[in-house]
Amino acid sequence: MDYDYDLFVIGAGSGGVRAARMSAALGASVAIAEDRYLGGTCVNVGCVPKKLFVYGSHFKEDFEDASAYGWSGSSPEFDWSVLRDNKTKEIKRLNGIYHNLLTSPGVEIISSKARLKDAHTVQIAGDTVSADKILVATGSWPIVPEFPGSQHMITSNEAFYLDNFPERVVILGGGYIAVEFAGIFHGLGAETTLIYRGDLFLRGFDKGVRTFVFDELREKGIDVRFNTNIESIEANGHERIVRLNTGETLVADDVLCATGRNPLTKDLGLREAGVATGSNGEVLVDENYRSSVKNIFAIGDVIGRVQLTPVAIAEGMCIAYNQFNDENRRVSYENIPTAVFCQPNIGTVGPTEERARELYPRLKVYESTFRAMKHTLSGRQERMLMKLLVDEDTDRVVGAHMVGPDAGEIIQGLGVAISAKATKADFDTTIGIHPTAAEEFVTMREAIR
Ligand code: NDP
Repeated sequence: MDYDYDLFVIGAGSGGVRAARMSAALGASVAIAEDRYLGGTCVNVGCVPKKLFVYGSHFKEDFEDASAYGWSGSSPEFDWSVLRDNKTKEIKRLNGIYHNLLTSPGVEIISSKARLKDAHTVQIAGDTVSADKILVATGSWPIVPEFPGSQHMITSNEAFYLDNFPERVVILGGGYIAVEFAGIFHGLGAETTLIYRGDLFLRGFDKGVRTFVFDELREKGIDVRFNTNIESIEANGHERIVRLNTGETLVADDVLCATGRNPLTKDLGLREAGVATGSNGEVLVDENYRSSVKNIFAIGDVIGRVQLTPVAIAEGMCIAYNQFNDENRRVSYENIPTAVFCQPNIGTVGPTEERARELYPRLKVYESTFRAMKHTLSGRQERMLMKLLVDEDTDRVVGAHMVGPDAGEIIQGLGVAISAKATKADFDTTIGIHPTAAEEFVTMREAIR
């Protein structure tokens, strides 16, 4: 049977773009449909603009710290529109790069919504095309819980494009996005309150890391409230009156909702094509990302597993090489290194200490907390945390956790060591780079637990 394309990809985010362009490079005829923006969440309203905002927001402390190093002068003023618009310019540049990444190997870009009609047919803008294989890579979308006035909240989508920078912000949630934006808004000068429903935010991360970050955020002046939730929000002109379940009321200019993201599968025609989905709408797939329909695949946020760009990219590579180069690649979901760009940053790889205790009965914990050398002169009280988890039976380093500037940069390297099953003895014989914070990871000699 002849089809218009070997592969039709729905969604040009991190995973879809990688699968499309690698498949095309391997000789497949490929089309990709995207109705929003090339590059998906990561490039447009996620990782990239977020990191630019994190850089922008850290200058406040840098200017303050500079005086101890001899720098003086009038204190700089922040102009939100400059940061916002420069960021948007950079994103437009990246959209162009993504366009070229797709067209160079011959992928056809279709700027329209695509909907499955059946297992081999896709509907696009009043037309239909056929494909041998179809890949659903439509990503995810912010969840906004329902309560009176919840429609007055913004999500991360809007936070990147605010007309006016808020003087007061309330953030709902205790995950990646909530803590990252708490640092951004606070650093850029907003009075920032973070509301989290549980005892301690960043569930799923190492407990020591979570309490350490809590202390640091509080120390910086972010109002962090646990065991708290929003009951209602009332709009009063530009103001938002936020009523909490504790009986308190907060007044804010913006309320940011960061309560997770659901797979984006609405109106995709999955049911018509016979593709099975789970309770949050995620496409159910096997270890080859094959859905319940054998020629329809799905990767990235839409499969509801790990919502991280590098994971979607790895899954996209698997699709290309396994489907169009006869390989049998697998993504390893073990020991995925990750960073949270709160301030200071979190970098982590391997299990938390709590989980490692269950996995390795004879666990040794090496830990160090200290003030970065830079702050010996600046006087800033910010501290760093470094932690290594070692299985005493094998001497293998099974996990590394860090809170501190550039934690992601440091943990990326340790991720390689941990994947390569490095032992504590390997760490000990590695010469440190002096003076760095990272050398602490090769000089920790005494286990503290
Ligand atoms: P997360 O899943 O990380 O966190 C959601 C938070 O919202 C949790 O604290 C959760 O609480 C809370 N929550 C959920 N439902 C409600 C509710 N109804 N009322 C109040 N609180 C609620 O989601 P994010 O939105 O922060 O981020 C989405 C995903 O995007 C992340 O999981 C991550 O995979 C990815 N991401 C990655 C980044 C990175 O790599 N640096 C940066 C940003 C996002 P509880 O813990 O109690 O469930």
